[in-house]
Amino acid sequence: MRAVVKSAPQDGPAGTIITDRGRPVPGPGEVLIKVAAAAICGTDRHIWHWDPSIRSSMTLPRIYGHEFCGYIEESGPDVGRTDLEPGNYVSAEMHLVCGHCRQCRTGQGHICASTRILGLHGDGAFAEYVKVPATNVVRLNRELVPLAVGAFLDALGNAVHATQVVDLAGRSVLITGFGPIGAMCAAIAEHCGASTVVVTDVSDHSLETARRWAASKSFKNLHAFNAAASDPKSVREAIIDISDGGIDVVLEMSGAPAAINFALDVVAMGGFMSMLGLPAGHSLQIDDYTRNVIFKGITIQGITGRRMYSSWQRMLSLLKAGLDVTWIVQAEHDSLDEFEVGMGKFDRHEALKVIFYPHGRGETQ
Ligand SMILES: [Zn+2]
Ligand SMILES: [Zn+2]
Repeated sequence: MRAVVKSAPQDGPAGTIITDRGRPVPGPGEVLIKVAAAAICGTDRHIWHWDPSIRSSMTLPRIYGHEFCGYIEESGPDVGRTDLEPGNYVSAEMHLVCGHCRQCRTGQGHICASTRILGLHGDGAFAEYVKVPATNVVRLNRELVPLAVGAFLDALGNAVHATQVVDLAGRSVLITGFGPIGAMCAAIAEHCGASTVVVTDVSDHSLETARRWAASKSFKNLHAFNAAASDPKSVREAIIDISDGGIDVVLEMSGAPAAINFALDVVAMGGFMSMLGLPAGHSLQIDDYTRNVIFKGITIQGITGRRMYSSWQRMLSLLKAGLDVTWIVQAEHDSLDEFEVGMGKFDRHEALKVIFYPHGRGETQ
């Protein structure tokens, strides 16, 4: 089968080959899935560039990719589920957790310290077939979830997780960073009745995408600001004004220290912050912690992965209720052999989501 393999500890095409690999054989408790569509994630960009942040997590060679949907091809022995049959349309949670630690046993598997990620620690989904534990498989409805959306439920699940921990209805929401997950958060906030959605980014192209999306939805309460503008004070004042004195809910998607401090400054007294972006170098300095965190009495919630499996349930329910995220797909390729082209578009921020159909679109739709 064709597969995208991180083959050497190098940046770009020198470190990634598109090659033929043996089809995986599902072991006990595993199913083999024919990959219909797979999407590039920010983590894949780190792998492509062999960024320091992911080096210690990977042993090479490794098939990468962890956002996908497809059809069950076959089951290994002792699958333990009677609801999975060949041909079923599915996706899968690619975080594999231990199931017996304190967090796993208290319904918090998403923060299991022993988490292994397929596409990083084990072989992933940029391939014609992928094997996953049957326990992690999520069945999908083709009427509600088109292949192009099924391909990135992993990322959409991050956005759902970031938004399901707080009530958005009637609230002012600030999204710092309009990358793919920021865009998904905007779609969820609009769908869930946020009164105002403010977006900040440092790319005019991204802000234009946000404005075009809002216009297409006739959503009047979208305000997009360039955070690198020459006059940050006026941006701050505008946001305070728009939000009647401060933002109710911040969805922090950038990991940029300046954006995090800006958000802490404009969040309302008693506001809520969902933090998903990772700062380069891991640490960051907080300005005026006394005023912006303690005296404001805010709540800061770290977001990692998807809650198992309430984020998946919520996500599928939102799609059923009409949440539209199809516009986030901005490039599609009919073969994994075009991986470098697709990664280039993603890397240059020309496309929020890039989808590959390893068997071609004709064969899988
Ligand atoms: Zn991802
Ligand atoms: Zn665990």
